[in-house]
Amino acid sequence: MVTRLPSSHTLLDGHPGERTVPFGGNSLQHGTAVFDGIRAYATDSGPLLFRPAEHVRRLLSSADTLGIGHRWSFEDVLALVVRAAARESGDSYVRPVLFARDPYLGVDLRALEFTLGVEVWPIPPPTVRPARLTVSPWRRPAPSSFPPAVKATGTYAVSAVARTHAGAAGFDDAIQLDPGSGRVAEATIANVFLVRGRRLLTPWPRESLLPGITRDTVLRLAASLGIEAHEGPVDVGDLAAADEVFLTGTASELVPVGSVDAWTYPAPGPVFTELAAAFRDAVTGRLNGLGWCVPVSDRRQVAH
Ligand code: PMP
Repeated sequence: MVTRLPSSHTLLDGHPGERTVPFGGNSLQHGTAVFDGIRAYATDSGPLLFRPAEHVRRLLSSADTLGIGHRWSFEDVLALVVRAAARESGDSYVRPVLFARDPYLGVDLRALEFTLGVEVWPIPPPTVRPARLTVSPWRRPAPSSFPPAVKATGTYAVSAVARTHAGAAGFDDAIQLDPGSGRVAEATIANVFLVRGRRLLTPWPRESLLPGITRDTVLRLAASLGIEAHEGPVDVGDLAAADEVFLTGTASELVPVGSVDAWTYPAPGPVFTELAAAFRDAVTGRLNGLGWCVPVSDRRQVAH
């Protein structure tokens, strides 16, 4: 199912009030923007951003890895994220993007001037619905073709082809394999976890995958709950032996998987349910000893 979000807010640094970008701009024409996605959760004391420092750091690292030059520091990006998030009082998804407006048709990123923009979408609370997945014939790009930890708009065409193919066959999403090893890498815009008994297994970053911040959150929560967790090689056949499977991502949070092709799982299963409850406590600040939640009214609390 496609969820279309209601109207969003745009904040372009240095271009106040602007909501549009030139059609000929390099990032639109060639997919050369880098971005990140951050959730803000409504609480009685106002919205909390979840792990914004990690997301901003990843955005800047994506730019750096691709050789994108720009003038924004960690503090500048964070300040714009916080300002943008403050425009919504409910749950929202906040997306800082570094993109090139120049109508330049080359692909040498050093020739481009990048702009920082932040888009904020109000997002409804998630409904827990088991996802039906298929293993996609479309694999992730090889790490020797594109750095998997970089979030660039262009690489989302790789996710789009697998997701579209899966959707046309009646599935909600697809598992994509590493192009070299043929092992499980990730879903199209989320990471994958398998549960066996009370033990978690998730593909290691040697496969072509984006090691997500939600994935990291789940690994840390599992440790605090006494659930053993392991990052390692995951063969497609391991899906046959799993007791539960679930996905993790900033926008979708934790999603129980009801089936992967003909393999079926209880969804939500007991380990998922335990982790999902801890995740909810974490994102709404009830576990904030961890320093993960930052009120939009107080950006000074963010550690570097
Ligand atoms: N893999 C891909 C390809 C993604 O786009 C995302 C979403 N950012 C993830 C994994 C999950 O990452 P995160 O938990 O940091 O959102």
